[in-house]
Amino acid sequence: MIEEIKSISGQDVNLCYQCGECSSSCQVAGVDGFYPSVLIHRIKLEDPGVLDERKFEVCLHCFLCTVRCPQGISFPDVATALSNIWVKRYGPDRVERAFLKELRERGFINPVRVALSALGLHSFKSLSSKALKLMRASSRSGKVREDLLKEVREIVP
Ligand code: SF4
Ligand code: SF4
Repeated sequence: MIEEIKSISGQDVNLCYQCGECSSSCQVAGVDGFYPSVLIHRIKLEDPGVLDERKFEVCLHCFLCTVRCPQGISFPDVATALSNIWVKRYGPDRVERAFLKELRERGFINPVRVALSALGLHSFKSLSSKALKLMRASSRSGKVREDLLKEVREIVP
């Protein structure tokens, strides 16, 4: 995984000496057990849970840790590489599939329609009837962007 991350992102996690500066700078450290320095340590140990748990997705790509890392490691680039490796191994998940379908069919993204298509209406049953009505109305908004479709389908075949 270390070499794969390096070839995708140019980031060499072997340079990390676990000073913890990235985790202490990170505004989302602790969310779902996410700590950039811990993930880097686990990558170095070749821990398969790094991919399976997908904690790297918590990263907001704010680059605060990057500017503070004494070794010049960019964790957000490591996170992007991990995301690419995950998709290469397991394929897109249901939200990503819904996102791509929406893009291919309409040429633009309506996030409400993507959420409904990926998660189903039952996932939102705790919402008020007013919110659900608004959601349904939002999911119908936006015309198919014929002008963008050709270009989009070249990028997302
Ligand atoms: S700041 Fe850099 S060297 Fe320090 S733990 Fe984070 S990645 Fe490693
Ligand atoms: S780029 Fe990610 S890991 Fe780094 S400080 Fe921002 S949220 Fe935290």
